[in-house]
Amino acid sequence: MAEYSESDKKIILNAYRGLLKATKKIRKTADDTARIRKAFNVAADAHMSMRRKSGEPYITHPIAVARICAEEIGLGVTSIVCALLHDTVEDTEITLDDIESLFGKKERNIIDGLTKISGVFDFSTSDQAENFRKMILTLPDDVRVIFIKLADRLHNMRTLDSMRKDKQLKIASETLFLYAPLAHRLGVNTVKTELENLALKFKEPEEYEDIQGKLKKTNDVRTRFINAFIEPIKKELEKQGLNFTIKGRPKSIFSIWNKIHKKHVAFEEIYDLFAIRIILDTPLEQEKADCWKVYSIVTDFYRPNPDRLRDWITTPRGNGYESLHTTVMSPSGKWVEVQIRTERMDEIAEKGLAAHWKYKESKGGKENGFDNWINKIRDLIENNHANTLEFIDDFKLSLYAEEIYVFTPKGELKMLPAKATALDFAFDIHTDVGKKCIGAKVNHKLVPLSHELKSGDQVEIITSNKQVPKEAWLNFVVTSRAKSKIKQSIKEAYNQVAEEGKEILMRKLKHLKVPLTDKAIYELVKLYDTKNFPELNYLIAKGKIDLSKIKTIVEKGGELNYKKEAPEVVKEEKPESSDPTNDLITNFGGKSGEAIILGDDNLNQVDYTFAKCCSPIPGDDVFGFITIKDGIKIHRNNCPNATQLMAHYAYRVLKVQWKSQKLKEFSAEITFTGIDNIGVLHSITTIITNNLNINMQSLNIGSNDGVFEGKIKALVYDTTHLDQLINSIKQVEGINEVKRTS
Ligand code: MN
Repeated sequence: MAEYSESDKKIILNAYRGLLKATKKIRKTADDTARIRKAFNVAADAHMSMRRKSGEPYITHPIAVARICAEEIGLGVTSIVCALLHDTVEDTEITLDDIESLFGKKERNIIDGLTKISGVFDFSTSDQAENFRKMILTLPDDVRVIFIKLADRLHNMRTLDSMRKDKQLKIASETLFLYAPLAHRLGVNTVKTELENLALKFKEPEEYEDIQGKLKKTNDVRTRFINAFIEPIKKELEKQGLNFTIKGRPKSIFSIWNKIHKKHVAFEEIYDLFAIRIILDTPLEQEKADCWKVYSIVTDFYRPNPDRLRDWITTPRGNGYESLHTTVMSPSGKWVEVQIRTERMDEIAEKGLAAHWKYKESKGGKENGFDNWINKIRDLIENNHANTLEFIDDFKLSLYAEEIYVFTPKGELKMLPAKATALDFAFDIHTDVGKKCIGAKVNHKLVPLSHELKSGDQVEIITSNKQVPKEAWLNFVVTSRAKSKIKQSIKEAYNQVAEEGKEILMRKLKHLKVPLTDKAIYELVKLYDTKNFPELNYLIAKGKIDLSKIKTIVEKGGELNYKKEAPEVVKEEKPESSDPTNDLITNFGGKSGEAIILGDDNLNQVDYTFAKCCSPIPGDDVFGFITIKDGIKIHRNNCPNATQLMAHYAYRVLKVQWKSQKLKEFSAEITFTGIDNIGVLHSITTIITNNLNINMQSLNIGSNDGVFEGKIKALVYDTTHLDQLINSIKQVEGINEVKRTS
């Protein structure tokens, strides 16, 4: 700490003291404290010359990450040490060998994992999907890498304000796309919720603030309702001598936003959605009995919905979640979800099972769904030869899938994602069982391979040695394991056939005395118009190629003798890593280049078109995206496709901005609703044509039971012009709501 300035020292020591306080319960011995202090000193020295974008000394970041690991994820001393050191090997002189000699082998491995995936921070140039794959590759070694990574991301999200706007959007998109689902799968619920909320705050600042404001305004109403609802339950629980706390929390801003958009409902219809949580303080052996006792009390007062009872105490979810859920009818006719659990279960629900059991550096822990999941992911990584994006999609499926529980004929419990079929079950048992599967018996009834399983089913697989994996199977299996095994077998079978075809071809060529060179391959692929050489061989083996054509050519002294110009090498399919847009990016200077100016064709020689999915108009927040075939497309930042584009192809995203001028008109669509009222239509058309001088392309109004909905397509110059239009329609009497819909 010698060379930090006095004011920096103050900030740093303050942060460090906060960390010590947060780890008080975790530090069990003097040695624990000494290790944390040592890590702090090493990191503080190493990062001495660095500052964060916010201006703070850099070391405040690792300290904050360590604190999140302790307080919010519940990790142990080793993880806290590694969190403090997480950026040293990447950004400073410190090497992995230094880490090993100063701390130990475990620490080295974790820092190594964190360093390998550190490219994730280079948002402007890197392929996020590939980075993410690398991150997942470290998963089997030590899951703590992922937990620390989540803490790191959370702190970066909390401090995203100091980043540039375009970086904010990219980081927020990735967070929604990958990190929040990952936090969900690892069961770190508080982290997941905060990541989602923060991402929304940067992606949709106005909508975020709107919901936040409305939640605040409706707070009193909610509190009154909750208090009235829990009153009788509370009394009875006390009477029965149970120790408990009751919480009633509204849904998160993100989940409200999600509902509004996915289900097309208004805030007013869902603001009172919340769950009541009853948390018992009860010994382990009493847990289950006591939770059901509470269930019995709750349903004495309120009628439960029989379809909504969930017992995750007897069978915990895959991410370790344990709880008893029921949905009951309140006196005012509103459904209310009640969650019943113990203190222990609540901690797992908030911080995640892995942190709780396996990585607190204490012994113990029971067989859990988490190990099961990790094993499946490991298997997926080892067997996956498909491209990265496919891998990420498969992987993401495994993050959010709800689970079902089914049984083998011997009563063994298997966990599968919802919508899993009999064939998924077969592959889950063993690859060979899957490959040979011809059908199944579910609850003793014969069903086809594609039969969708339900919780509680007992499944017996029927196999035949004559069966081989079929392409069509890919249409109904849902587990990534089954998918990758099927693809792999199909590919193997294809290659085997192609190999046979190649032998036939070689014999033919030998007979004609034509050597099999690259040029010959090129000509043959062209001659038979096949995609590549393996496909040609495959078709030969299948008898679909007329090989006598070759003889004719050779006899005519033709092309196989290569008198003609031919490229050196056959055009095989490009390797996965090379992306056809790379050249484009260089041409457009996409990596670091200046922003493209929209609306001024003289300034930049760049062709762009406006994406149809979101139809941007001047004034919208937009970005450019380099497509493979259609050049640059301009999307709105809030385009439904934006998150995925930015997360998958961050390096193809270009900065763009509007040139402010009224040269061109853009088409925009406005939807409005209101109460039927003679004259409304007239008022609207008058406003549009006379007052605002707007060109209307179309106007449709439909009416139903005294309520109408109208759509206007109009030509406007920019968002200001459009807002003017929206505001003046709002003024019309009888109009209820007006919004832009495209
Ligand atoms: Mn970091």
